[in-house]
Amino acid sequence: MIWNPEKECMNRSALETLQFARLKNLVEHVYRAVPFYKNKFDEAGVKPSDITCLADIKKLPFTTKSDLRETYPYGMLAVPQSEIVEVHMSSGTTGTPVVDAYTEHDMDDWSEGLARTLSAAGATHNDTVQNAFGYGLFTGGMGFHHGARRMKATIVPISSGNTQKQLTLMRDFGTTIFTCTPSYAMYMAEQSKTYGIDLKKLPVRAACLGAEPWSENMRKQIEAEWGIKAYDVYGLTEITGPGVAFECDAQGGMHFNEDMWFPEILNPETGEPVKDGEKGELVVTTITKEGTPLIRYRTRDITYIMTEPCSCGRTIRRIHRLYGRTDDMLILRGVNVFPSQIENALVDLGLRPDYLLKVTRSEVTHLDECELSVEVSVDTFDDETKGLEALRNKIASYMKSKLGIMLKIKLVEPQSLPRFEGKAKRVIDNRKI
Ligand code: ADP
Ligand code: ZN
Repeated sequence: MIWNPEKECMNRSALETLQFARLKNLVEHVYRAVPFYKNKFDEAGVKPSDITCLADIKKLPFTTKSDLRETYPYGMLAVPQSEIVEVHMSSGTTGTPVVDAYTEHDMDDWSEGLARTLSAAGATHNDTVQNAFGYGLFTGGMGFHHGARRMKATIVPISSGNTQKQLTLMRDFGTTIFTCTPSYAMYMAEQSKTYGIDLKKLPVRAACLGAEPWSENMRKQIEAEWGIKAYDVYGLTEITGPGVAFECDAQGGMHFNEDMWFPEILNPETGEPVKDGEKGELVVTTITKEGTPLIRYRTRDITYIMTEPCSCGRTIRRIHRLYGRTDDMLILRGVNVFPSQIENALVDLGLRPDYLLKVTRSEVTHLDECELSVEVSVDTFDDETKGLEALRNKIASYMKSKLGIMLKIKLVEPQSLPRFEGKAKRVIDNRKI
């Protein structure tokens, strides 16, 4: 179902006219209202009047996470504080938290983004949405809450954790859609066996999962274990929260809410635009944001813009499933590796995607040493892999073929690696570089 066909299916030139009007308005406003932007624009030698078409956006300076840290807590406000109705903060996975402040209008846009997200996963006001994203300063919980509220679905605001209760309430309240991180969806599926709950007998039919990178293989596994469709959803605190981009029934990339958030894909090293269809860093301008608007925010997330029309009829373009964040990308012995590639390869081998990668650097050889712990159970041993050694070799050579580097494989007992109720953390990098 399409929540807002007028916006989601807009004709391209009408959309671009709208985007330009919004961009122009934003640039003029922040130049007047936010000293941070006035200084930045002046330093870059650009005036709001220089923005005469959408392509002129590239004249504007970037905004980075460190800008947001330096202006903590309210240095980026573009309205009087009395107009702010809610604040959120990033979960701080990569350092000092950053603040996002919302006016009533910003809350409307955010709810709209998430109503589009939930509708695209098939939700209507007849559905019961169990929201297992964490509530609080993190945007996941409150964001989905506002979105489900907007569409007048029944909300079960359980937050993350309390797995047995999650599963029991799904049965008792007749939950049809749930929302959480992909890691937590996997964990709940694993725990359901312990609690004797048959997931296939639950009324759940879809889940909106996001807030962390996950692979296509992990999607397949979640869908098979739960007997549901699992939809990807993308967003980040700085750019309002989840619901910036969402998957439709076609499950082939996420529609970007371009009427509210303007995307660019740039070469992360040069800052120059790449061609549509080429991978690069997603940079976003919040063209309708009032509280803490961001001009050309460097998300550090890697994806590309898919220009082919989607079978669902939406015309807002899609971004490809995220490859990861430039700062999550590991350089192991000179080879670039995204953690999601490891996860994908493990599922290819029929193993669980719960792994732990420890990286150290030898003081003698100065080479990176990478140890990958993988859970194996007795049924992992097929005819070819009669012994542990054979299994280790099989995993190592498959990883080598997929990642281009040799990892030391450590086999561990089922359920012995950490599980996560929110975002997973599966890499421990102890290199002192
Ligand atoms: P933090 O930066 O502290 O983790 P956020 O909760 O704002 O706080 O995290 C946003 C980040 O999470 C995004 O920039 C992106 O890297 C990641 N993310 C969010 N949704 C997805 C998704 N669907 N796929 C991959 N990564 C995602
Ligand atoms: Zn679509």
